[in-house]
Amino acid sequence: MDFTLQSYKDYLRLLRDNHPLITTFRDLFRCQQISETFALIRHDVDRFPNRALAMARLERSLDLVATYYFRTKPGVFQPAIIKAIYDLGHEIGYHYEDLSDARGDMRKALELFQRNLEKLRTIVPVETIAMHGRPLLPYDNRDLWRDPIRHALLQEKFGILGEVYLDIDYTDIAYISDTGRNWRSTAHNLRDMVKSTISTDFLNQGELVQYLSRSQGRKVVFQIHPERWTDSFHSWLVQYVTDGAVNVAKQGARMLSGLRTAPASTSAQI
Ligand SMILES: [Zn+2]
Repeated sequence: MDFTLQSYKDYLRLLRDNHPLITTFRDLFRCQQISETFALIRHDVDRFPNRALAMARLERSLDLVATYYFRTKPGVFQPAIIKAIYDLGHEIGYHYEDLSDARGDMRKALELFQRNLEKLRTIVPVETIAMHGRPLLPYDNRDLWRDPIRHALLQEKFGILGEVYLDIDYTDIAYISDTGRNWRSTAHNLRDMVKSTISTDFLNQGELVQYLSRSQGRKVVFQIHPERWTDSFHSWLVQYVTDGAVNVAKQGARMLSGLRTAPASTSAQI
C-alpha cells in the first residue's frame, strides 16, 4: 500500500542506495558549484506536524537528512516538534504563504513574512524558504519575489539563501512530488510545478520504484507531504478521502481560473 511509512522507507532505501550525496537545500545553496549528482528530500509540512516528526525519525534511522518547510499557522506551528526535527539533524525552512494571507498586498505580505520568519527563528535557524500553494486562492505566493528589488531583500534583509522554486534551475533535475496523492507530474497540481526536461510522470508505485532504482547519476528532488503518510489504517483512510476532496476542489479552481482567463470571444460562446 502506498503513502504509508513502510512504503516511504522503501523509497528512502532506493534513494540512499543510488545517491552517494543526499543533501539539504541550505547546503545546496551554500555550494558554489552544484554537484553532478545528488538527491534532496523536501517536505512541506502543511498539516499534522506529528507525522513530520515520525518521518524525520525514520530518515534519521537510515542516516538521511531532509529539509522540512513549516507553515506558521496554528496547529502546524508546534515549537517542540520543530525543534525535535532540527535536533535530529534535518534542516528547517519556512513554508511561506504571506502574499495570499495579505490578499495580494505586497507591502503587507513583506511585513507578515518578516514577522513569521522571526517567529520560526526563535526556535531554529532558517536559511531557505518554499512557497505554500494555497490552491483555492488566486494568489501565487512566489510573486512576492519575482520583482528583482524585492528578491534582493531575501538575502540582504532577511538572510535567506534561496527560495526553492525560484532560485534553482530544475532543467536537469528530476522533480518527483506526491502532490495530489499520485506520482503524476501534472494531475491535480496547480502550482507545485517546476520547469524540467526530465519526465517524472509515473502511473503507479511500481513505475516510481523502477525509476528510483535506476536514478544513479541523476539529480533528484523528492517532494513529500508528511501529512499524507501514515501506518495507521484509520488515518490513512481519512487522508485518502481528504486528498480526493482536495483534488476535486483543485479541479474546480482550475476550471474557474480557465473561465476567468478565457479570451472574450471564447467567453461569449460559453
Ligand atoms: Zn504547502
